Amino acid sequence: MNLTDSIRNTFSKQCKNNSLIGINKRMDYLVRLEHWIKDNEERIKVAHFKDLRKPESEIELAEIWYVLSEIRIAKKNLKKWMRPKRIGKSTLALATAQSWLHNEPRGVVLIISPWNFPFNLTIGPLVSALAAGNRVIIKPSELTPNVSSLMARMVDEVFEPERVSIFQGDQEIAKELLNYPFDHIFFTGSPSIGKIIMKAASKHLSSLTLELGGKSPTIIDDTAKIKMAVNKITWGKCINLGQSCISPDYILIHESKKNEFISELSNNLDRVYGRSFAHKTQSLDLARVVNLRHFERLDDLLCTAIEDGAVIVHGGEKDKNNLFIEPTLLDSIKLDMKIMQEEIFGPLLPIVSYKNLDECIKIINQRTKPLAIYMFSQSKRNINTIIDNTSSGGMVINEVKSHFLNLDLPFGGVNESGIGRSHGYHGFLTFSNQRSMQKNGQFSLVGLTFPPYTEWTKKIITLVSRYF
Ligand code: NAD
Repeated sequence: MNLTDSIRNTFSKQCKNNSLIGINKRMDYLVRLEHWIKDNEERIKVAHFKDLRKPESEIELAEIWYVLSEIRIAKKNLKKWMRPKRIGKSTLALATAQSWLHNEPRGVVLIISPWNFPFNLTIGPLVSALAAGNRVIIKPSELTPNVSSLMARMVDEVFEPERVSIFQGDQEIAKELLNYPFDHIFFTGSPSIGKIIMKAASKHLSSLTLELGGKSPTIIDDTAKIKMAVNKITWGKCINLGQSCISPDYILIHESKKNEFISELSNNLDRVYGRSFAHKTQSLDLARVVNLRHFERLDDLLCTAIEDGAVIVHGGEKDKNNLFIEPTLLDSIKLDMKIMQEEIFGPLLPIVSYKNLDECIKIINQRTKPLAIYMFSQSKRNINTIIDNTSSGGMVINEVKSHFLNLDLPFGGVNESGIGRSHGYHGFLTFSNQRSMQKNGQFSLVGLTFPPYTEWTKKIITLVSRYF
């Protein structure tokens, strides 16, 4: 059977197998998935190492622990999440009626995932989709083939294909899948491909979640504790070698703090990853650029910035054969440089200084709404000024990226950085159709307003419209 037939068969089998599953079956899937992950931790680590040379600790935390947390929280709360939610009455005219929300599965859903956190960003949404009772088809990224193959094996061992199926391959497979009328599409990837997905979803009016990217700024104001900022930014920028959707993309720093910040961050990068380029290359705590295309993209961003006047103040060395670029700090940045227009998604960090917060706000608001804004500050007033004058999917104060770890917080972007929310209960809701339910008895107050519109009925309608 060729791939086109296989996709058609799988989709139609999943559509036919549309009987609802209750809490026990959903729990069973979650437990089986949890066991498989726990039994195969070593293989998961090896696959990530082969694809991205990810540090073991990053795989443990950001891939395995994260997904197990999603499962743990879903298992703990599923009964509560599935319970119909009683809704109040906005009018006394419905005094005799009962209203509630009933979460039903969306149906057959498609998950398309990226390469940077390939396990987390595929299996995380899968957990939410299964908790909500859906049937799922997955298209993982072609750029991390070892992790994708392992996930295919996992899906094969844990689920029947009528519940979960996976199709590996590049954009052609994704395009083929997008011909089908999915009940929901959950896409994680770049804004440019997000637009293609949205167009494809519109063909069948499939509902859609887009978890996208963009430029997430980090503001450091004149009250910030620089050592704290430096520690946290080192981790946040260098995890997965900067290939993260919520990486600090560029720094906006008060001019009075710039020199201290550059000097402290340079020292800290040397302390954590080694003094020389050779040391950093050998460090097992730095991942690799995913492939040559992305290496060349980053190299071009760096070279173009330098041609346009940017100055390397730390790092700057690279090794094409090893797909490695050391963490690099850039000063003398102009806002119209290419590096300030595109999402960097790598270990390059432009540093832009500002004189006052208005300037800072202007720079952020001239760009598309970020997935995240980070701010290091001890001033409540400055923090509130940024909150009130900018918009983003999330904002973290005096830390970077940590909002992703709180599964009780909805995660997502705004417009170009994303549409919809994921994680924990919000992921469950994303994969559920919230059905508005109402039950009435034989006598209903609404019935008193029915025609024929006699004088008495008209009086009731006037009464209702004025007072209820
Ligand atoms: P991408 O958009 O290139 O690819 C994502 C997926 O889409 C892959 O599975 C790919 O095969 C598929 N795809 C590619 N072209 C397609 C097409 N024409 N039609 C249909 N599908 C197609 O993204 P990427 O390079 O894998 O990941 C990096 C991007 O993802 C960055 O922009 C990053 O910010 C974003 N991202 C966002 C989040 C989030 O949670 N918001 C998380 C990780 C990454």
